[in-house]
Amino acid sequence: MRFVPLLLIPALLIAAEPDWKTVDAESIDLLQRYLRIPSINPPADTRAAAELFKTELARVGIEAKLFEAGPKGQTNLVARLAGKDRAKKPLILMSHFDVVPVDRAAWRMDPFEGVIKDGAIWGRGALDMKGIGIMQLMAVLTMKKYEIVPDRDIVLFATCDEESGGDLGVRWMLKNHPEELEAEYVLDEGGFGTRDVLQKGKLVFGISVAEKQPAWLRIRAKGTAAHGSQPIPDNANMTLLRAIEKAMAAPPSGKAHPIIAEMLKTIGGAMDANKFTNAIQKNTLTLTTMKSGVGDPPRANVIPSTAEATLDCRLLPGVNAQEFISEIRARINDPRVTVELLTTIDDTPATSFTTPLFETLKRVIKKHHPGAEVTPMMVPYSTDSPKFRRKGLPAYGFTPMILTAPILATMHSDEERIPLDQFHIGMHMMFDVIRSEF
Ligand SMILES: [Zn+2]
Repeated sequence: MRFVPLLLIPALLIAAEPDWKTVDAESIDLLQRYLRIPSINPPADTRAAAELFKTELARVGIEAKLFEAGPKGQTNLVARLAGKDRAKKPLILMSHFDVVPVDRAAWRMDPFEGVIKDGAIWGRGALDMKGIGIMQLMAVLTMKKYEIVPDRDIVLFATCDEESGGDLGVRWMLKNHPEELEAEYVLDEGGFGTRDVLQKGKLVFGISVAEKQPAWLRIRAKGTAAHGSQPIPDNANMTLLRAIEKAMAAPPSGKAHPIIAEMLKTIGGAMDANKFTNAIQKNTLTLTTMKSGVGDPPRANVIPSTAEATLDCRLLPGVNAQEFISEIRARINDPRVTVELLTTIDDTPATSFTTPLFETLKRVIKKHHPGAEVTPMMVPYSTDSPKFRRKGLPAYGFTPMILTAPILATMHSDEERIPLDQFHIGMHMMFDVIRSEF
C-alpha cells in the first residue's frame, strides 16, 4: 500500500489544473511589486524590473538571460519555456518594462505604489503594459509549475525602451542577438475588448494587425525680433499660428484601409463616432507642443525671431509620408516657415490574420467571453510589433481584457489603472493560448 501514492504522483501532476485562487493571488502581488519599480523612460533603467522577472522565473527553474543595452541600466530579458515539438519555431510573448513619466499632482495616490481601490490596481504602467507583462509571466510560470509542456517553445521577451522607439530594446536585440528571437509568431500589446469604443453595447474583441505611421513634424516660423510695444507684420508667433491653422484647415485626407472594412464586416454595421474610431480611419494631425519667446521665463515685451510647434501626424499604412508632407508644405505656402520630419518612416503592411495562432486567439476569447465578436484591428498608436512584421512574422496586439473608454483613456495619462476582474481573466486567457496547439 505504501507504493500506491508514489505511483499516483506523476499522473496527478500531469492532470493537475492550476489552483487558480492561488495563482490569482500571486499574480496581484507580483503586479503590485512590478508597479512599485519606477522604470520611467527616460532614462529607462529597467534593471530592477528585469531582476524581478528573473527571480520569479528562477524559482520555477527557468533561467532568464539579461542583456544590458545601454549605459543607464537599460536592460532586456529573454527566457524560454521549452516545448514538445522542436521542429516548430517559438511563439514570442513580448512586453516592455519601461513606462512614461507621470504628472504626480494629477494623481490622488502614489503612481508607484500599486494601490488596490474600487476593483482596480492603480499605477503608472498598469495598462501600458505591466499588467499584460505579468499575465505573460504568470502564464509561463504556471505552465512550468504544473509541468504542462507547451506544444512549441514559448519565449518571454521583455524590453527596456518601447516608449522611446525601441532603439535599445527590440531594435538592439534584433541587431545584436537575433538568434534569441528566432520565432514564428509574436504576441504584443495593441488590440483590446470593448463594449463602448467601437459600437455601443456590442462586445467586440480587436486583435491588432496593423498600426498607423507616426510622422512627427516640426513647424518653425522665422520673423523679425522687435519691441512688443510696436506691432509689426513680420511677427514669428503670428506667422506660426497662421501656418498651423492652414496645415490643419482641410479635413485630414486618407481612404479607409482594408482592415477597416474587415472590422465593419465583423461588427455588422457602422462604428460609433469618437476619437479612436476617427483616428483609425483617417490620417490625423494633432498640435502637441508650441515653443516661443525670449528669456526664461519668456519676456512679455519681446517679439521673438522664431517660434515653433510640433504636429503629431499619424498616417494610415500605405500612405506615402513624403507626399503627405509636401501637401502640408503646399497648404502653408509661406517661405518664412519650414516643415521638418522628426521620425523615421517605416511603412509596415498589415500582418496576416488567417493563421492558426489567430484562430487560437479567437477560440480562447470566445471561450472566456461567449458572444464576443473577434476582429482584426487597426490601432492608432505605435507598438514594437511592426519591427517583427517587417521581418515577415505575424505579430498580434493581444490585450486580453474588456476595457471601457474611460479606463483606456488613462493610458499615458493620469490615474492609469487596470480592472482586477479583467486582469485575472486576461491571465487565464494568456495561459489558455500558450497551452494550445497552433
Ligand atoms: Zn506600451
